[in-house]
Amino acid sequence: MDDLRNYIGGQFVAHSSSQWLDNLEPATGSHICRVPLSDASDIDAAVAAARAAQPAWGALSHSERADWLDRIADALEARYEEVATLESRDTGKPITLARGVDAHRSVSNFRFFAGMLREHEHEIFEMANATNYVINKPVGVGALITPWNLPLYLLSWKVAPAIGMGNTVVCKPSELTPLTADLLMRVIDEVSLPAGVVNLVHGDGAGAGAPLVADSDVDLVSFTGGTATGEKVAASAAPAFKKLSLELGGKNSSIVFADCDMESTVAGVVRAGFLNQGQVCLCGSRVLVEDSAYDEFRDRFVEAVEEMRIGDPSDEATDLGALISESHLAKVQGYVELAKREGGALLTGGTSCVPSGFEGGNWMAPTVIEGLSPDSRCATEEIFGPVVTIHPFSSEDEAVAIANNTRYGLAGSVWTSDLDKGRRVSEAIDTGMVWVNTWLHRDLRVPFGGVKDSGVGREGGKWSLGFFSEAMNVCVKHD
Ligand code: NAD
Repeated sequence: MDDLRNYIGGQFVAHSSSQWLDNLEPATGSHICRVPLSDASDIDAAVAAARAAQPAWGALSHSERADWLDRIADALEARYEEVATLESRDTGKPITLARGVDAHRSVSNFRFFAGMLREHEHEIFEMANATNYVINKPVGVGALITPWNLPLYLLSWKVAPAIGMGNTVVCKPSELTPLTADLLMRVIDEVSLPAGVVNLVHGDGAGAGAPLVADSDVDLVSFTGGTATGEKVAASAAPAFKKLSLELGGKNSSIVFADCDMESTVAGVVRAGFLNQGQVCLCGSRVLVEDSAYDEFRDRFVEAVEEMRIGDPSDEATDLGALISESHLAKVQGYVELAKREGGALLTGGTSCVPSGFEGGNWMAPTVIEGLSPDSRCATEEIFGPVVTIHPFSSEDEAVAIANNTRYGLAGSVWTSDLDKGRRVSEAIDTGMVWVNTWLHRDLRVPFGGVKDSGVGREGGKWSLGFFSEAMNVCVKHD
């Protein structure tokens, strides 16, 4: 595959330095392409292109911009299989997941926000002698920074509402998974979106991400990634009062009550624990089980985990692929070693499991650990891999206390046939989202985001439209 180039002002351009990063395939370790290691001068050029394009783009009506989003959705949909294949190759995730989740959502993100824009109406507040009407103006130039686990899914989730509300943007995708971001730029070029509305600069966090956030001509920063990086982004953006949205890490609990439907709960909790090799911010990586059902659930859970097929990501029968990088694999394995030192017992996994022919890749067996204190590091820190810890509880209060004993507050799930209890427990958990008897069941209209160290702000539906715009009130006095 050819070396990648930045996309600035409607042109694919070389970056200014001679520094490159090798993009490696997680499943095999083989070389895919070289990624530009851009620097502040590339960022300056991209921000300038976005700034120049903003007035004309911001002057279009919502429905004109909605038409552009639909054109991008159509062109992306025409390349559906290419999106899935590139995403699977770049991330190591199974092709079925890349099709059903990544390729699907990338198209529907554009379609969904096109529909929302067409329905968007000014809010009106009548007074006895005056009418207030609220308009949503573009913020200006947006910096959109995304991680490697759901590359195009998350980038399109930002690009669509950002440009939909009249902003122009500079995207900085993860340097580990640049392929579908490049594809999106080719799609945007193909549909002839006005030059400068969407720009993309490849590179790492220090060289490209940090100067983008710090750029004095950037008005808004939408960041999804790790909590430690989020702290740096917040520190850089805050002094200039940039609008800031942070979608950060998670350590989410799946809470299983004895009255659950055991079969669907086991299947749901396995999916919550291990989807995308456990590399989803929403993954339920700590499973809390009511003590009277603990033994039965544990045995069935471990059996279901061991039935998952690990292997070639391009094989439709594969359930689990490779981890993103060698260093990430080492970090995840380090947590397994830590769990042993913390007194945990491995119920399954804990080892690498390299499929034949994939010796150069980053492979790890799905791992379940019991016997750890719910306060232990492995039970409270984000591991972001195929590692789940399992803990008994004896009361609703105890389950909620355990669920809340982490610095994170992103998501969770509750499994019970008593829906009053399901709602009661959900509402007591300090997170932004909870599912009852399901997990990752997404409605794009609802608020998405976390509390505590999982982030600041909400995305989704009207929350995205609000974040990517400035609400302005006009009060007109009547005679
Ligand atoms: P990361 O924080 O290492 O990187 C995310 C992005 O930030 C990358 O594009 C990176 O190049 C860039 N970056 C790094 N340093 C930067 C800096 N100083 N300034 C600006 N940009 C910088 O995260 P990751 O390893 O790519 O992704 C995994 C993390 O993302 C996990 O913690 C996961 O929970 C989180 N995540 C959260 C959500 C959510 O919606 N809350 C969704 C997906 C992933």
